[in-house]
Amino acid sequence: MAIRTDGLHHVTAIGGNPRRNVDFYARTLGLRLVKTTVNFDDPGVYHLYYGDAEGTPGTLMTLFPWEGVTPGRHGTGQATTTSFSVPELSLGWWEGHLTKLGLQTTRSANLEEEALTFLDPDGLRLSLVAHPQGDPRDPWDTPLVPAEHAIRGLHSVTMQVAKEDASTDMLTDGLGLRYVGEHGDKLRFAAGDGGPGALVDVLVTPNAPRGLVAGGTVHHVAWRAPDDATQHAWREELLSKGVEVTEILDRQYFHSIYFREPGGTLFEVATDDLGFSVDEPLLELGRALKLPPWLEPRREQIQGALPELNLPDENNPEVAETLANRQTQGV
Ligand code: ZN
Repeated sequence: MAIRTDGLHHVTAIGGNPRRNVDFYARTLGLRLVKTTVNFDDPGVYHLYYGDAEGTPGTLMTLFPWEGVTPGRHGTGQATTTSFSVPELSLGWWEGHLTKLGLQTTRSANLEEEALTFLDPDGLRLSLVAHPQGDPRDPWDTPLVPAEHAIRGLHSVTMQVAKEDASTDMLTDGLGLRYVGEHGDKLRFAAGDGGPGALVDVLVTPNAPRGLVAGGTVHHVAWRAPDDATQHAWREELLSKGVEVTEILDRQYFHSIYFREPGGTLFEVATDDLGFSVDEPLLELGRALKLPPWLEPRREQIQGALPELNLPDENNPEVAETLANRQTQGV
C-alpha cells in the first residue's frame, strides 16, 4: 500500500518553564491549550497541546516544557523552523503585537509568500506565514489575538539536512509527498492538497554543525494518517523498505508510530481519529491535568511533582462557552 500522508499532524518541541510556555503559546500566540497532560514516556514533565478550538490535526503544536532544561543547538538533523499560517494582511498586526511584547522579529518575503520569524522564550525558531491562497481553517479567538489575525494552524516545517537525497527520498517515496520546486534557498515538498499545513521545506547545509535536540529545539514532526487500519498498513510498508519503525503506541488522543528519517529528524505518523474530547468535554479542553488510564493510579505523585500552570481565561469553561457562542454567531 503506497503511503500518502495528507500533511502535518503536529510538531513537538522541548521548552523550559511551563508557566512561561502557557503564557507564550496560549496568550501571546493565541492558540488554544487543548490538552494538559504529561509526557507518557517521562511523566515528570508536562505535555501541553496547543491548537485550534478542537485540536484538529494540522493545527497542533505540542511542547514538553521542562524547567531547567539544557539548551539545545539548531543544526542539521532537525526541524529548525516551525511555521504557522496567518491571514495575508495580518503580518503587520503580528509585527506590532510581538514587538510590543518585547520580541525581536524579522520580516522576509519571496515571490509567493511573506513571513515573520522570531524565537519562543526558549529559543525555538517560529515563523508566521501569510499564504497567498488564504487558509479556510477557523481560528481560535482570544482577548489578546482577535480572530481576524489569529493563527489558522500549522503552515510548514523547515528540515535542515547535511545531505539532500536520502531525506528527500523519505519524503517522496516514504511518505508520498511531491517536490514542488525551489523556495528561496530551500526545496519545497507538498502533501495532499499542498495548502498550509501540508508543506515541508528542506534546507541543505553540508557544512553546518549537527543539531542537538534539547531545550528550544523540535523533538519530532508528526504526519497524518487517516485511521488505524491505514497506519497499520503504512507501518508494514515502511518495515518492508527496511525502515526501523516502533510498535504502534497509544497516545490517548491518537495512535502513533515513530521512525527517524535518514538525515536524523525524528518522524511520527499519528492518526487523525480519537481527538481531544475523548477524556473531557470540548468546552473544558486543557483545563484539568489528564492522565492516560495506566498513569492514573500514580496521579497524586505525578501531579504533586508538577509546577502549577496559570491557565488562560479561555480555559475557564464559562469564558470558553462565551467565546464559542461568539464564534458560532460570527461576531
Ligand atoms: Zn508526537
